[in-house]
Amino acid sequence: MNNTFEILASVYMLIGAVLGTIGPAGKNISEEVRRARGTPFTNEIMEREQPSALTLTLFRLTVTIGFILLWPLFIYGIVKEQRKDEADSNAFAEKLRQGLWFQYNMGGCGTVTCGDCNHSESVTSFIHGIDSSRTGFQCQSCGKLEAIESGGPGRANEYARSLKCECGGSFERDKVIFCPTCKSKNMSYHMDFIT
Ligand SMILES: [Zn+2]
Ligand SMILES: [Zn+2]
Repeated sequence: MNNTFEILASVYMLIGAVLGTIGPAGKNISEEVRRARGTPFTNEIMEREQPSALTLTLFRLTVTIGFILLWPLFIYGIVKEQRKDEADSNAFAEKLRQGLWFQYNMGGCGTVTCGDCNHSESVTSFIHGIDSSRTGFQCQSCGKLEAIESGGPGRANEYARSLKCECGGSFERDKVIFCPTCKSKNMSYHMDFIT
């Protein structure tokens, strides 16, 4: 009886040790240690010294032992979160493959160029002012690229004018940029400046 318990306990801890080192939780533990170590920059901000190597080793050991003892409480959440992160980054990579987006791969002000018809024009993705900002939009009907003024800090979503284009179409931001001339999505962006 006693023997069975010992075997089960060993198997339990072995599973915990594998999950907490080379398994999925090992990655999270390393991430926690990295966070505890901080960077010269974050340590500066928090006005603290970087923890010593010994402190960090003890920290890693404590977290790992805690995990090995209590792994069934954590493993489901850890795996679920990692799956979600992976799905998010796949979805993001897929968006970037589709083309240019104001909010993902265009910053500040620059020039968009069509890879099919060579049409090129300057465009504002987003610039801050002191009490106003300008945000780039594209009319989904005629393709016109427009920077629309909005409020200052905290009011960047309050636009000074309606999001209707003079052609009757609507200005949108959360869409892949297409060439106003030939409608191609094969566009590239060169940033001139960022604010
Ligand atoms: Zn074009
Ligand atoms: Zn339009």
